[in-house]
Amino acid sequence: MIIAPKIRGFICTTAHPEGCAAHVAEQIAVVKGRGAIANGPKKVLVIGSSTGYGLSSRIAAAFGSNAATMGVFFEKPAEADRCGTAGWYNSAALEKAAAAEGLYARSFNGDAFSDAMKAEVCAAIKADLGQVDCIIYSLASPRRTDPKTGEVYKSVLKSIGQPYTNKNLNTTSGVVDEVTIPPAEGDDVKNTVAVMGGEDWEMWIDALLAENLIAPGTQTVAYSYIGPELTWPIYKNGTIGAAKEDVERVQRTLDAKLAPLGGKAWVSVNKALVTQASSAIPVVPLYISLLYKVMKAEGTHEDTIEQMDRLFRERLYNGHPQPDEAGRIRVDDWEMAPAVQALVAERWDKVSSENLSELADFDGYQSSFLRLFGFGLAGVDYAAETDPNVAVPSLKHE
Ligand code: NAD
Repeated sequence: MIIAPKIRGFICTTAHPEGCAAHVAEQIAVVKGRGAIANGPKKVLVIGSSTGYGLSSRIAAAFGSNAATMGVFFEKPAEADRCGTAGWYNSAALEKAAAAEGLYARSFNGDAFSDAMKAEVCAAIKADLGQVDCIIYSLASPRRTDPKTGEVYKSVLKSIGQPYTNKNLNTTSGVVDEVTIPPAEGDDVKNTVAVMGGEDWEMWIDALLAENLIAPGTQTVAYSYIGPELTWPIYKNGTIGAAKEDVERVQRTLDAKLAPLGGKAWVSVNKALVTQASSAIPVVPLYISLLYKVMKAEGTHEDTIEQMDRLFRERLYNGHPQPDEAGRIRVDDWEMAPAVQALVAERWDKVSSENLSELADFDGYQSSFLRLFGFGLAGVDYAAETDPNVAVPSLKHE
C-alpha cells in the first residue's frame, strides 16, 4: 500500500515502516558518531522501549555501549488493510540493526503493568542474560490496570485547584488561541498517580530483585519533566506533576533497596520534546515550538537521541551524574538555561497566529511530529508501494 500520514488531532493513525527504520538508523548514526560509551552498561532492560525517550535509551545502550537489550512496549503489528504502529516498526528496525552487529535484542509486546509481563521478562532475563545491569523505566500511558485488583485507572492532564487558562497551539492548523483546562475533580489526582506515578516502577524492581536478576552496581532510571513556570499549572503543579512527585518518592525507596547491591535509582529530568505522549498535553506544543526556535538558533537543540546519549555518556556512566539539590539528574539543563527561558517567556507573551512562524519553530514542531511516525525522512520513497507487514524478529509469532 501507499502509506501517507493521517493526522487526527494529536495522533497520527498511520506509520511508515521504511520511514521508521530510517528514523532509527539516523538515531543509531548519532550515537555511533560520538564513539563508544566507556564503562557503559552491558545488559539493559528498557520498559517503554518502542518510541520517544525509551527507544532512544535502547539505541544509546545498544549502539553506544554494545549492550544486550530487552525492550517492553505496547504496539500493534499491521493487520488486514491497516499498517502497524510506529513503535512496532521502530522495534523491528532496532532488532535488525542490532542483529547486523551481533548484538542481542529481544522484545516483549504487551502490558508492562501486568504481573504476566513481569514474569515473562524475568524468565527471559534468567534464561538469556542471567542478570541486567541497567533498567530504564520510560512508560507513558493514558491508563493502567491494577495487577492486583483489576481496577482500571485513567490518567488526566488537568490543573489542581483552579481552572487554568493559557495560550494554546492547534498543531494541525497553526492557530494560536486559548484553552481553559478544568481543575482535577474526584479521584483524578489519585488515578493519574496510579498510572504515571512510581508504583509500577517499584513493582518491576521488586520482581527483578525477588529473582536475583539485578547485577551489582545496577542503575535504574525513570524519566520526569519540570519545565518553566508558564507550564507549571498544567504540568509540574497539575495531575501529571503529582504523579512525577510520586516517581521521586519511589526513586528514594528504590535507592535504598538497591544500596546493598551497590546500585542506584535515579530520576532524570529530560527536555521537553515532541513525542506521542507530549503532543497530547495542552499548552506544551506551543511552548515546545517556541523553545525549538530559541535552542536551534543557539545551537543547543537536542532530540531524544542526543538527550539519551548525553544521559548515558555524561551522567550515568562517567562518574559525574551532577544531581540537583533534590538528587535528580538534569539533562533539561540546556532547556532551563536562564537566557533560553527569558527569550521563550518574552516570545510567549507576544506569540499569535499571525507571528507564529516568525517567533516559533512551528515547521520544526510539525516535522518532528511526522518523523515520529516515519514521515519526512530523507531517502524514503513515500510514493512507492510499501509492505506494511514487517516482523519484529524476536516476536515472529505475532
Ligand atoms: P512515548 O509515548 O514516546 O513512549 C511511551 C512508551 O511506553 C512506548 O514505548 C509505549 O509502547 C510504552 N507503553 C505505553 N503503555 C504501555 C503498556 N501498558 N505496556 C507496555 N508499554 C507501554 O513517551 P515519551 O514522551 O518518550 O515518555 C517517556 C517518559 O519520558 C515518560 O515518563 C515521560 O513523562 C517522560 N518525559 C517526556 C518528555 C517529553 O517532552 N516527551 C520530557 C521529559 C520526560
